[in-house]
Amino acid sequence: MKTDPYAWIEESLATIHRANWYRSVQTIEGRPGATVLLGGQEVINFASNDYLGLAGNEHVIAAAIAAIQEFGTGSTGSRLLSGHRELHRELEEAIASTKQTEDAVVFSSGYLANLGAITALTGKRDLILSDQYNHSSLKNGSILSGAAIVEYPHCDVAALKTQLNQQRQNYRRCLILTDSIFSMDGDLCPLPALLDLADEFDCMLLVDEAHATGVLGKTGAGCVEYFGCTGRQLIQIGTLSKALASLGGYVAGSATLIDFLRNRAPSWIYTTALSPADTAAALAAIKIMQQEPQRRTQLWSNIDYLKKLLQQLPNFKLLPSESPILCFQLASAADALQVGKQLRQAGIFAPAIRPPTVPTSRVRISLMATHESSHIEKLVQTLNSIYIDTTF
Ligand SMILES: *Cc1c(COP(=O)(O)O)cnc(C)c1O
Repeated sequence: MKTDPYAWIEESLATIHRANWYRSVQTIEGRPGATVLLGGQEVINFASNDYLGLAGNEHVIAAAIAAIQEFGTGSTGSRLLSGHRELHRELEEAIASTKQTEDAVVFSSGYLANLGAITALTGKRDLILSDQYNHSSLKNGSILSGAAIVEYPHCDVAALKTQLNQQRQNYRRCLILTDSIFSMDGDLCPLPALLDLADEFDCMLLVDEAHATGVLGKTGAGCVEYFGCTGRQLIQIGTLSKALASLGGYVAGSATLIDFLRNRAPSWIYTTALSPADTAAALAAIKIMQQEPQRRTQLWSNIDYLKKLLQQLPNFKLLPSESPILCFQLASAADALQVGKQLRQAGIFAPAIRPPTVPTSRVRISLMATHESSHIEKLVQTLNSIYIDTTF
């Protein structure tokens, strides 16, 4: 009997449904902000990575429109062919100046920046040591590179050192990979200790500042600045799509590194250059980030306020966090979905995050500079009432 070679897809989808792992998109209407229209209902938005509230900002929007007027909608080619504009260079110089690195290069997304950098820097004879909670782009970049991959327990410097002692001498080059703020947990990597280990064992270190850029450090340069490690040799990756309110990614580091990536990173060489609108929006957002530090101050005072109010709800298990990302751990994917649903009924948008994205189910809150105290109070009141009529 002839079988349908595609039948397994439906069966696999049914398994995903049964495990409560099924995902679908939700439609947001209008501009992004601290409140948004979701399915026609106005909800308080705790699901956005727009930490400084710039994705709906008038100046950023105006910059994108002006760039489209001047340069058109598409960049029409890869950077090395017909896609390069002066605007790209201005953006790269602004990133390098923020990060205080010699140079930077922008990619079409943060995901592509990680794939490109990791595959250019490592190959079959090399070793990658990767935090077990690293972002998907770091994990898939590692696989694509062909290097040997060893995951170390989350933020465990002692375990990493043991692995370096055991394995380093068997490989040509070694690259340590870590998120700076972990995207689904909200905690922070032990950067100074990782830098010391990289020095001691002759390794490269790549830190992904996707959630820390604009958020951490005096000028918003990220965890490297926060830890006082500016100027030390390392590879900094980030995205233009979170606090920087646009779309795209970057690598910042030494001039030699960036020059090498422009010649060897396939996800930079063989893809179309960032569009004029995205480039101009990111550039405008960086300027606002530099000129309006009060946005970051407000973000951190929102974080402190939420943490303070949450102390009144000791039964919610908050995962360790040093960022605008705050997660409540829940016993199962079904519980996480249930809490997410109840929050939504109360007019609060905070997603349930489930395996396989994370090892344990949780509800994830992300704060923005533009949240008002009443938004934060409503969240805590609602969580409080949910706790009363459910058992975790
Ligand atoms: C979001 C994110 C990325 C991907 O960035 P995009 O620009 O959205 O592709 C990479 N790394 C981490 C840690 C992220 O959170």
